Amino acid sequence: MPIRILPPEVASRIAAGEVVERPASVVKELLENAIDAGARDIQVEVEEGGLRLIRVSDDGCGIPAGEVELAFARHATSKLTDVDDLNHIVTLGFRGEALASIAAVSRVEMSTRSVEEEIGAQLSLEAGEVVRRRPVGRPPGTTISVENLFYNVPARRKFLRSPLTEAGHIQEVVTYYAMAYPERRISLSHNGRPIFRSPGTGRLLDVLLEIHGPETAGALLPIHTFSDEPSPVIVSGYVSPPAIHRADRRHMVFFVNGRWVRDKALAYAVLQAYHALLPANRFPITVVQIHLDPAEVDVNVHPTKTEVRFRAAGEVFRAVQRQVRAALVQQASSAPQFPAFGWGERPSLSTEIAARQQVLMSAGRSAVEHALRLIPPAEGTAPKPAGAPPSRLPILRVVGQVRQMYIIAEGPDGLYLIDQHAAHERVLYEQMLSQTAAGAPLSQALLEPLVVSVDLRQQDVIQTYDAELRTAGFELEPFGEGAYLLRAVPAVLAGRQDPRTALYEVLEELERGETPLARRKDAAVMAAVCKRGAVKAGQTLSHEEMTELVRRLEATSSPQTCPHGRPTMIHLSAEALARQFLRS
Ligand code: ADP
Ligand code: MG
Repeated sequence: MPIRILPPEVASRIAAGEVVERPASVVKELLENAIDAGARDIQVEVEEGGLRLIRVSDDGCGIPAGEVELAFARHATSKLTDVDDLNHIVTLGFRGEALASIAAVSRVEMSTRSVEEEIGAQLSLEAGEVVRRRPVGRPPGTTISVENLFYNVPARRKFLRSPLTEAGHIQEVVTYYAMAYPERRISLSHNGRPIFRSPGTGRLLDVLLEIHGPETAGALLPIHTFSDEPSPVIVSGYVSPPAIHRADRRHMVFFVNGRWVRDKALAYAVLQAYHALLPANRFPITVVQIHLDPAEVDVNVHPTKTEVRFRAAGEVFRAVQRQVRAALVQQASSAPQFPAFGWGERPSLSTEIAARQQVLMSAGRSAVEHALRLIPPAEGTAPKPAGAPPSRLPILRVVGQVRQMYIIAEGPDGLYLIDQHAAHERVLYEQMLSQTAAGAPLSQALLEPLVVSVDLRQQDVIQTYDAELRTAGFELEPFGEGAYLLRAVPAVLAGRQDPRTALYEVLEELERGETPLARRKDAAVMAAVCKRGAVKAGQTLSHEEMTELVRRLEATSSPQTCPHGRPTMIHLSAEALARQFLRS
């Protein structure tokens, strides 16, 4: 084929693909425009995961009627004038590509009025072409509606996930910008239902309270850059104490000069600061805001502007790591303190105390877990691999409990160190299996049904595992959008824990999907339920409780592993002991 220059409509659709990957990218670009326009109040309305509609309304400066068409031209921007400006970008936008790209792959309607004009303008475009224009009366600001995204790019549409998943990505982006700009009120609704609203108080903690709830937000640790430490890199924000962690990095958020960025090196710097404090494969909640001279950072790396390059990268990473570490060390060395910040709605003191105690307890626990991981297993103590044929346990005599985590037991052939949590998981799992096999109900009704509100991702998990959750004993009934009525929970969870929390934790476990058994959905749900129902590390058990647990473990078919495939016990044989003591 001869070389040809692509026709403009093909070229623009290719370019659009770089900026607009999925509905959440549209929301991101429109939010950035509203923020650049100085809006104080920004509303995001989304229908069907943004595929049907994304509408962003702001009360910013608006666009002069004479420039509305220009705003949709590629490389048209009011934010840069010459190439020199590229060296100190202070706005979120600067490439003049977003509106052109969005318009190329959807139907767009924009109504806007500049603060300096009396009459606004409304413009409709289809596949990037203006199809209608008329004057409108409206308050200053801009409303842009993006309908039928990717209607003319079927290939892209095919790659999108379910509307709920897409809505989940949108929710993420909206909360990120709400964190970056706590002085703005930013709200999100999905299919007409309010999902999120930041209060616009100017305090990041108030936004975090909306996102994570009072218990988690109240436990977060502030990052300070001390003023007697003059530094060109200013780091602020919040990090979770080691006891609070999540299944993925979604809650590790970074902003550079108010721009949300994804940066593996920054995430790595933070994880290094947590080194050894978190359980394996768990991630903290962190909101890290970095401010530095705009000339020190290149934001023009990628069309989506979510990647940056620092001129002095090492210095930035070190500053971040130092401040995060300082926040963690400070909390570890100080006595438990109640948050010094005021609350919108203050939770009761006892809730706070309980939350704090939980935090302290688990903090101790993860340190212990770490210490144990550091001890190399002595010869002969390695647990049987998970794949080994299940062997029956001999009758064991419980000797005691160590670190509120392990049961020491003695058998005819040496010593057994039993992980109380893993062992209980195994016991509950087999109990559930045998009850299902016998056709016995696994469910226990709640005295009062509870309304449980779920975010879009949780809703997605509920829908995916609908039948299996039911089988395991959860009785859930849709209750308006974004909520369910919880009528019953698996019997192994009943009375152990707040039913709502139990459900949330099972959903988190399922979403993480790390269970090797996840190939079978019913087994995955049961394993997740047992994980929640089992006694935790950190719980003191009486001698009777330990004996009972060990008896029940002896009766299981695979006492050596938990339902997730991890070992429940370490066996130190009599010979191994003798060898260690140089007796043989
Ligand atoms: P960029 O943000 O990189 O300049 P965009 O394509 O996103 O490029 O927007 C083009 C121009 O349209 C902006 O430079 C700005 O002047 C104007 N604009 C877009 N959205 C808004 C808005 N919500 N309020 C005011 N002006 C806007
Ligand atoms: Mg823009």
